[in-house]
Amino acid sequence: MAQRRSKKKRPLREEYMLREQLKIEDEAFDDRTVMRLGDLFTHGIISKIHFLTARGKEADVYLADPGDKVEEELVAVKVFRIETSDFDNRMVYIIGDPRFSKIKHNIYSVVNEWCKKEYGNLKIAQQAGVNAPKPYMFSGNVLAMEFIGSNGVPASMLKDVRLDNPGEILASILSSIKKLYKAGLVHADMSEYNVLVKDGKPFLIDFGQAVVLRHPNAIQFLERDVHNILNYFYKEYGISYDYEKAINEIVQSQEQGA
Ligand code: ADP
Ligand code: MN
Repeated sequence: MAQRRSKKKRPLREEYMLREQLKIEDEAFDDRTVMRLGDLFTHGIISKIHFLTARGKEADVYLADPGDKVEEELVAVKVFRIETSDFDNRMVYIIGDPRFSKIKHNIYSVVNEWCKKEYGNLKIAQQAGVNAPKPYMFSGNVLAMEFIGSNGVPASMLKDVRLDNPGEILASILSSIKKLYKAGLVHADMSEYNVLVKDGKPFLIDFGQAVVLRHPNAIQFLERDVHNILNYFYKEYGISYDYEKAINEIVQSQEQGA
């Protein structure tokens, strides 16, 4: 696909310098993305891009060294793909969320809005005390956050580990869903793919599609999230947890302010 060049396109030299500074050796990033990575660099969030650590369904996640504004040893940089992005599917989560009523309907602004939304949702999760990556900064289609893993290796997805303590992990995931709900958010894509397990603890990731409770489908999304998780623990570990009870515990905690 031919790249549309903006009138204010910066000189090639600047882009070349950025690629050098960030040690971006391959051609994997388009010009736009290099500029956005440059923003993370200028703001002291990253100092060097290492390599691709994981490919998700809509984004690629790179490992980076921190800049001087970040205390942790590594940074995860999620780069949302423009070309393969699932425009229609995303719109369901954006339309209906009052935070995004004025967005322009073109693919770049939808992807950027999605990235901004994930950043905002991760902030809410952080404030709610949920185990989830701490967000550092976003720019355009690029989001920098805490790296969940050890020695540069990302933590395994729930679906790929055999847990010693499945009951505890399930309780902890339900407790995170409850804390999020109390903070006014529903994850809306909970599954064994979007939970990483690190040091025997679950971390929720992938908050792009999470919606506020005012979204007309919020309760349906909550029910689907809980169903997916209970179903997984039943199928893999034979744990039966009452579905109605789980939903009630989450919803009532909000109503009672407990
Ligand atoms: P997608 O929307 O494309 O599914 P995800 O946010 O789920 O994107 O990220 C894709 C993959 O990247 C995840 O399955 C996980 O392996 C890895 N990943 C994402 N965020 C982090 C993080 N903060 N730390 C470590 N690995 C991560
Ligand atoms: Mn995912």
